[in-house]
Amino acid sequence: MHEFDLIHDYFKPLAKSFPGSLNLSDDAAILTAPAGYELVATTDAISEGVHFIGNESPGLIAQKLLRVNLSDLAAMGAKPYCYLLTVMLPRETKSDWVAAFAEGLRKDQHQFSIHLAGGDTIATRGSLSFSLTALGLVPSGKALRRSTAQAGDIIYVSGTLGDSALGLALLQSAITVAPEHQRYLEQRYFLPEPRIDVGQKLIGLAHAAMDVSDGLLQDLGHICKASSVGATVHRHKLPLSQAADALIQTNDALWDKITGGGDDYELLFTASADEAPAITALSKELSLPITVIGEITAGSGVQLSDESGQAIPAERGYSHF
Ligand SMILES: [Mg+2]
Repeated sequence: MHEFDLIHDYFKPLAKSFPGSLNLSDDAAILTAPAGYELVATTDAISEGVHFIGNESPGLIAQKLLRVNLSDLAAMGAKPYCYLLTVMLPRETKSDWVAAFAEGLRKDQHQFSIHLAGGDTIATRGSLSFSLTALGLVPSGKALRRSTAQAGDIIYVSGTLGDSALGLALLQSAITVAPEHQRYLEQRYFLPEPRIDVGQKLIGLAHAAMDVSDGLLQDLGHICKASSVGATVHRHKLPLSQAADALIQTNDALWDKITGGGDDYELLFTASADEAPAITALSKELSLPITVIGEITAGSGVQLSDESGQAIPAERGYSHF
């Protein structure tokens, strides 16, 4: 495959409805934030054997790559705008692999209203790797931050926790569960749901926010550190899917996947207790669980506690190095 054919056949169609992409035919894209908005930028790289297994369908790899970046935009309260993509392909990659990869992007561009603005394609001697930079728009000065939690805030999380880490453990045959639960958990690993709507609606409601990508306790620790506060999380309040609950019932040690597993891509945020009715209403409006899991304290560090308030020792989540 020649690089220019690859771009022409598979990537130009993803950029054609975004004027700033200049149809991928110039040296760079031209971006403008509308009056009253700021640009939010995030980037994530993934590599075969580390972030994905390699035998997934190419479309799923593409969707997950885009979605993990969209989750970061959601965490800032931003609306998706455009993205830049670098594709690093082993020389022997077939064109139908690239076609299926581009088709995954096309589907998610449509679902999340985002467009390709530019990028690069290279042939490598190694494994598949990708890097994606997503840009979002947020009302000026209103981006959600990690550093603005306050003692006394309630801590919330969207959706359910641990599904993806359990899905990966199932794919690695480390654990077993009923087939319908297995399908659900594996799907949660392959295709995270970036909480774009939640993030935008949290502007003006939440004090601090981030997305959970490296495990709940570790990520909450980032909010605490950035905000100079502490946190208590009540383990029995953590939201579990039916499938995760079924696994926990049979193996108590799997709580570590709930509190420390990676790849959740749910939103973790803090808000004043006064906002509780508005957050309940938001959960209803979006038909998405948004659950109280603990509170921000004046101390430091994250404490996990059981129903009687006793501290539970727990693993701390995924470390990249
Ligand atoms: Mg993040």
